[in-house]
Amino acid sequence: MIFQLEHSINQRINLPENFGVELYVKREDRIHPFISGNKYRKLKYNLQEAGRLEYKTLLTFGGAYSNHIAAVAAAGKAFGFNTIGVVRGEELQSKINENVTLRFAQNEGMQFKFVSREAYRDKTSESFLNDLKNEFGSFYTIPEGGTNTFAVKGCEEILSEEDKTFDVICCAVGTGGTISGLINASYGNQQILGFPALKGDFLKEDISKFVAKGNWKLITDYHFGGYAKINQALIGFINSFKIENDIPLDPVYTGKMMYGIYNLIENGYFSKGSKILAIHTGGLQGITGMNATLKKKKLPLIQ
Ligand SMILES: *Cc1c(COP(=O)(O)O)cnc(C)c1O
Repeated sequence: MIFQLEHSINQRINLPENFGVELYVKREDRIHPFISGNKYRKLKYNLQEAGRLEYKTLLTFGGAYSNHIAAVAAAGKAFGFNTIGVVRGEELQSKINENVTLRFAQNEGMQFKFVSREAYRDKTSESFLNDLKNEFGSFYTIPEGGTNTFAVKGCEEILSEEDKTFDVICCAVGTGGTISGLINASYGNQQILGFPALKGDFLKEDISKFVAKGNWKLITDYHFGGYAKINQALIGFINSFKIENDIPLDPVYTGKMMYGIYNLIENGYFSKGSKILAIHTGGLQGITGMNATLKKKKLPLIQ
């Protein structure tokens, strides 16, 4: 396996003097052009395991604009696996070319199985998986969003020795694999703050399965109404953050996290002089898809 793990750089953000804290962004979005951010970390040990067990094919699950689907397709191609994506929404079958994520994944060699929302909900059932085995032969299954113990192990490698000096580490949360790795790799005096990108309080329990420490918290005020829901304030924030810092943020995860961090700073949430590290988990491939939706709604686009 030739995953070359360099540690990504921490970029300092220029904040107004009166904010009273220091903020850095760990540029995990720069790790790989297609297998970016946390999806790269989450796949590393899964691909090693699939190789060790001599599987030739990876199968995973995702929605229409899934960063995970794109990453699995690219990683499969790079490391010599066939890939199968079980995609939510039968109607997408005829729209692959209109959907940047699916088109990209297909170009990387991914085969799709489009299923109804109802069937998708049942995707981990034995009968569904057996049907897939009959159709595609044997495969190594990577769960939706990629979170399992191998993924958490990979995410533990996001932090390095030099990150010891931070008081607070922030990340966006989807299934909780990334924050679990950060918690496991954190030092005792550090606090890990997760910003869920979706509504619901199942996450705390999911994360607790992977971690033993208690130095973490979920900030649930910045999901903007739910998964992939956005508004003009968020778009405006993402666009000005990019102009000021030359760092693109995605609208589903990192944009909401960063909006939340700024809001908390402005509200005096952090103690004076705190050193904060925000993890840029990537996801930039999702911007084009979101812009297609915004354009239809005649809303401002993400630049
Ligand atoms: C998938 C994803 C997340 C969520 O990671 P989890 O490990 O599922 O919590 C966060 N940020 C980006 C950009 C992602 O693509």
